[in-house]
Amino acid sequence: MSKALDAMAEIANLPRVRLACLPTPLQPLATLAKDAGVEELWIKRDDLTGLAFGGNKTRKLEFIIAEALASGADSIITVGALQSNHCRQTAAAAARTGLACTLVLTGEAPDTLSGNLLLDRLLDAELVFSPETDPHMALRQVVRDMSQRGQKPFVVPYGGTSPAGMVSYSLALRELLEQNPKIDRIVIATSSGGTQAGLVLGAKLLGFVGKITGISVDRSAAFLRPLLADLANQAALGMGHPGGFEPSRFEVVDRYLGGGYAVVGELEINAIQRVAKKEGILLDPVYTARAAGGLLDMIERGEIPAEERIVFWHTGGTPALFAYPPLES
Ligand SMILES: *Cc1c(COP(=O)(O)O)cnc(C)c1O
Repeated sequence: MSKALDAMAEIANLPRVRLACLPTPLQPLATLAKDAGVEELWIKRDDLTGLAFGGNKTRKLEFIIAEALASGADSIITVGALQSNHCRQTAAAAARTGLACTLVLTGEAPDTLSGNLLLDRLLDAELVFSPETDPHMALRQVVRDMSQRGQKPFVVPYGGTSPAGMVSYSLALRELLEQNPKIDRIVIATSSGGTQAGLVLGAKLLGFVGKITGISVDRSAAFLRPLLADLANQAALGMGHPGGFEPSRFEVVDRYLGGGYAVVGELEINAIQRVAKKEGILLDPVYTARAAGGLLDMIERGEIPAEERIVFWHTGGTPALFAYPPLES
């Protein structure tokens, strides 16, 4: 077997706790495709991974929770924004596997809990609010306190982006190509980078030559591309594959950052309304609305050719719809 196939087989055999409903559906967006003027547009429904409203972190957590259990941990702890989808799915994964869960969230405790935050509480996570913009200091303190109390916490990295988490998206690419191998471009929202890095690693291992376009929701392409290359190389090396990823291999679009992370603007509101109206599918205000808005804009500008066969990867996040009052208007 080639090194690439060896690495793919190794990924498929990694310890894993089943949490997601897989494969997620791949559906045509016929009305939206016609409206936008492209021949083929599909949506990969990772908003339907099924764990407490689903999302892309569920795939990553299957491998991360397996690591946590193998390490003998009795609890997991992670960090995120107040409306973090990653934190909500981590809390649900902990509940499912009998682990305690602590979430360190950036910001002040709000008066009422809504969206993901409400679900975090329902899922029995302990919430620690950290006013610092860098919650990692608070995280280290909580880990120390837990250890002193005799608990054994396992730290789930920001966004579930560790080598173990990322490779779930190499497998997800294989799943997609089994559903439809004739794809010219995949478009996804990118943030901590694990999803995109995992997909690009999978593309190399599987020989997929289509484009993988990451639409950044918070950071510049100049920052993300070397980070994505590092992430893919780390994961590849862990599988005995030489890696060799360069920043230039990662396509990152940072033109749709608008007012910054989680600032819901015209682009996002229009995308949510258009996809809801044309397809009856809900996007989230922070990630998928920005990415879909960017995709539709790139199509309309002719930067994405009308004859390409495009997959928009829905990475979840829909509970945040219930936490953004600007959407009421
Ligand atoms: C976390 C998240 C992303 C980004 O995934 P990364 O692997 O962190 O780049 C995209 N969409 C949604 C809904 C998310 O919650």
